Amino acid sequence: MSLLVVGSVALDSVETPFGRVENALGGSAVYISTAASYFTKPIRCVGVVGGDFPQEHLRFLEEHGIDLDGLQVVKEGRTFRWAGRYHYDLNNRDTLLTELNVFSAFDPKIPDNYRRSAYVCLGNIHPGLQRKVLDQISKPRLVVGDTMNYWIESTPQELVETLKVIDVLILNDSEARLLTREPNLTKAARVIRGMGPRIVIIKKGEHGALLVTEETIFSAPAYPLENLYDPTGAGDSFAGGFIGWLAKTDDLSDANLKRAVIYGSTLASFCVERFSVEGLRDLSPLKIQDRFRAFMDLSRFDEA
Ligand code: AMP
Repeated sequence: MSLLVVGSVALDSVETPFGRVENALGGSAVYISTAASYFTKPIRCVGVVGGDFPQEHLRFLEEHGIDLDGLQVVKEGRTFRWAGRYHYDLNNRDTLLTELNVFSAFDPKIPDNYRRSAYVCLGNIHPGLQRKVLDQISKPRLVVGDTMNYWIESTPQELVETLKVIDVLILNDSEARLLTREPNLTKAARVIRGMGPRIVIIKKGEHGALLVTEETIFSAPAYPLENLYDPTGAGDSFAGGFIGWLAKTDDLSDANLKRAVIYGSTLASFCVERFSVEGLRDLSPLKIQDRFRAFMDLSRFDEA
């Protein structure tokens, strides 16, 4: 099934205890689209870049079969830039730079041939813009939305309106607590469900993810990686793997949502093994399936 992805397309500079990259390919739309590309086609990517955006990055996206007709290029502008630094605790990062550039005036225009996309993933952008995207789409089957601390704190009312029109909210534990002022994550997920999304996924970094629907609470483990170099994009790769699997199977049962959470975790685990998008560059169905099975083994146990 078709998948529409809207979000940032960025040049990231990232430093971790294990190395650094400058102006590497990044952005929420990039990670989501690339992760989802291993599951479904077509993937329609809507975002904006400046005239300085390298051709090799466009080639990377095209090589993953991502349709770029919706990618606006503002020739005279500069691409969105983000810089971050991670310490030994890779769960926490310092944002060193957020240079919005062409992203500050981003007005997502959905091309006519994208308007009937069945699955929609709204990456981390202003919640008002997320709604503006949805106003241009005709009856999607599933809308997944992502958000971050910044929007929860600076545009809470806009976010509340957006939550009413999305089906799945994916956010991390600190964001869930901030949004609901509820320290207990299971209760926080219930509160968020009351705000609109019928499905809530709370990511807990190296402690896995929690899926909450009306009838199901599912706790997914995180993959115990020994080689973890750059956590940038893990959350977006999770969203891409999650919605990619659902778009491929077009099955929204709770049992399949659980599989989608594990595919999301699988793609996130590949993402963090290398810098920038390199961990997502050369995956194959076999590699993905092997890791999916490793996830199954991680928490399978029997009654005595
Ligand atoms: P994640 O690690 O999954 O939270 O996502 C990291 C990506 O988010 C990086 O590639 C950044 O370019 C992008 N990013 C960082 N800040 C913002 C922002 N304010 N709006 C949109 N994208 C952002």
